[in-house]
Amino acid sequence: MRKDDCIFCKIANGEIPSKTIYEDEEFRVILDLGPATKGHALILPKEHFQNIYEIPQETAAKAMILAKKMATLITEKLHADGFNIVQNNNEVAGQTVFHFHMHLIPRYEGDGQNINWIPGEPTQEELEKIKDEITK
Ligand code: AMP
Ligand code: ZN
Repeated sequence: MRKDDCIFCKIANGEIPSKTIYEDEEFRVILDLGPATKGHALILPKEHFQNIYEIPQETAAKAMILAKKMATLITEKLHADGFNIVQNNNEVAGQTVFHFHMHLIPRYEGDGQNINWIPGEPTQEELEKIKDEITK
């Protein structure tokens, strides 16, 4: 299913042009218009799913396999030194386009980018409590 007012639905299905670096029946991979680094790309499923919670398991699995293939290809072709795969869900997590996508971000020595968080310092007890919250 496509969503009428969704820009990534339109791009994924070819209604809006994009710099496409890969396409198959289910996915299109495009260059990001506001790249973190040279070669920053986005994996877009052609069907509309808002986020990780909505995407079917099989599509998620295929997206991850495609991410591996594209990361390998981009790294080889652009001589990257490393790679980040980023996937944001909901506004609080930095999602700005509400159509599931995976960021493929090649990294280069000295690229000056910082895809990071401030590490907390939980006690063992706090970690144990969180473990219990998730697993019980
Ligand atoms: P997110 O913040 O995870 O939702 O990421 C949205 C990404 O989509 C950003 O990195 C934008 O630069 C990128 N973006 C937004 N509109 C377009 C577009 N029309 N074509 C390519 N990339 C886009
Ligand atoms: Zn969409």
